[in-house]
Amino acid sequence: MIRRLLMAMVLLVAFAMGLVWLYRAEVATWAFERGALRSMSTDVIAELPQGLHLFVCGAGAPLPDPLRSGPCLAVIAGERLFVVDAGSGGARNLQAAGVSPGRIEALFLTHFHSDHIDGLGEMAMLRWTGGGHETPLPVHGPPGVERVVDGLNHAYGQDFFYRVAHHGRDVVPPSGAGGKAETFQMPPRGEPQVVFEVDGVRVTAFRVGHHPVEPAVGYRFDFGGRSVVVSGDTTRNEDVLAISQDVDLLAHEALAPHLVAVLERAARATGQDRLAKILFDIPDYHTTPVEAAEIAAAAGARALLLYHIVPQLPIPGLQAAFLRGVSSAYAGSVTLSRDGTLVSLPTGTDRIEVGKLP
Ligand SMILES: [Zn+2]
Ligand SMILES: [Zn+2]
Repeated sequence: MIRRLLMAMVLLVAFAMGLVWLYRAEVATWAFERGALRSMSTDVIAELPQGLHLFVCGAGAPLPDPLRSGPCLAVIAGERLFVVDAGSGGARNLQAAGVSPGRIEALFLTHFHSDHIDGLGEMAMLRWTGGGHETPLPVHGPPGVERVVDGLNHAYGQDFFYRVAHHGRDVVPPSGAGGKAETFQMPPRGEPQVVFEVDGVRVTAFRVGHHPVEPAVGYRFDFGGRSVVVSGDTTRNEDVLAISQDVDLLAHEALAPHLVAVLERAARATGQDRLAKILFDIPDYHTTPVEAAEIAAAAGARALLLYHIVPQLPIPGLQAAFLRGVSSAYAGSVTLSRDGTLVSLPTGTDRIEVGKLP
């Protein structure tokens, strides 16, 4: 009796699976429609607790890593959305997480290395078409930012025209296309400068060391009694240490020289001397994971998030290799970020919550 029942159940399941397979296009379209309705009716930012949040829209650097797009950190302060650096894929990652780039209020660039601006066109375009803005994306940065923004507006000028012609001026007001440079003077060493302040959100820029890349800065965000420091690309740096005193979250770049050396050896072994030379050069203007942990410890930072991860970490065990020595340098919470990582700092608490967007 039980055997016959079991047999009937197996047949039933097989029949149901066969039906789903037969109608897979219809089933998938139905699921697609349900998903689209759900994502378009959800305001992800409104669902977050009141406070300051760091969302990693790009955890990587130029080397290809399927888990880590080009450098992009979104800072959500209450209902406002800011972005630090526009690495490739950043704006799409925001969209994938349910955050419309149309809500970006301002972009802050740390420096003008290609990996930090190669998603700028996509970000400005998706902000314009997604938000119907009448003013261009404010792009804050040290001197040189105007040249980057001029280039963006020049390169995308034809597409601005196409979008208006196709969708109409009400949907995409021509005055909102592209970016507008908001240049600030380079802060002197040891003297951070407030570069943006509105409704309780304060952004402070500070000088970092990324020689020969100059200017190069990092940013500190303060809102609702909570704070985040974003290091930008830098070697171990005194200004990062000073501005990170007692910060809630230090988001620091990290490069593991012992893993970059693996790539360099492979490049030499295969006769790719140009690549080997580049791989040999890059560790000297970045910070190792252990150095970042030492800075977090010396500053009394309450949590450390590593981003701008170099090299790529395609094999799960490599994360442990990347973090070698970090736990003995710093006792606080350490997050090796990937695209989609979220750290929340709710106002009125001292909580630090690491997760993903709802
Ligand atoms: Zn970089
Ligand atoms: Zn750089």
